[in-house]
Amino acid sequence: MEQTLSIIKPDAVAKGVIGKIIDRFESNGLRIAAAKKMQLSRADAEAFYAVHAARPFFNDLVEFMISGPVFVMVLEGKGAMAKNRDLMGATNPQEAEPGTIRADFADSIDANAVHGSDSVENAANEIKFFFSGREIL
Ligand code: GDP
Repeated sequence: MEQTLSIIKPDAVAKGVIGKIIDRFESNGLRIAAAKKMQLSRADAEAFYAVHAARPFFNDLVEFMISGPVFVMVLEGKGAMAKNRDLMGATNPQEAEPGTIRADFADSIDANAVHGSDSVENAANEIKFFFSGREIL
């Protein structure tokens, strides 16, 4: 069964909508195979977003991701990667389709509520970054 990584970002954790976001996943056929709340270090955030290191928004992104705790999950289901991306909506919440997580819970392109792996290959690497095999059930 396909797996993907989801992160509920600090803005959504601070708003108290972890449960509402998990409900979107579980109501749409995605199972929570692993989950934990954690505070990312600067090194964690820089390594996780290394692909964006040269982008102008990299520092803002890292600062935002370490501004408070995050809630990290492995989602599992048929076509889990693409299904999660559909449920998330566009990166900029102002462009996100109504009813998507970002349209409903995000405030800005920085504070955009959730991260989701953007390919099955990246998903495997991102899952390994956060979870050991015995945490994924
Ligand atoms: P995602 O896969 O939809 O999360 O988008 P990307 O992988 O392209 O970017 C990673 C994260 O960087 C996004 O979720 C945003 O929080 C942030 N980001 C992306 N593009 C921009 C931008 O143009 N400006 C700013 N400020 N942040 C951005």
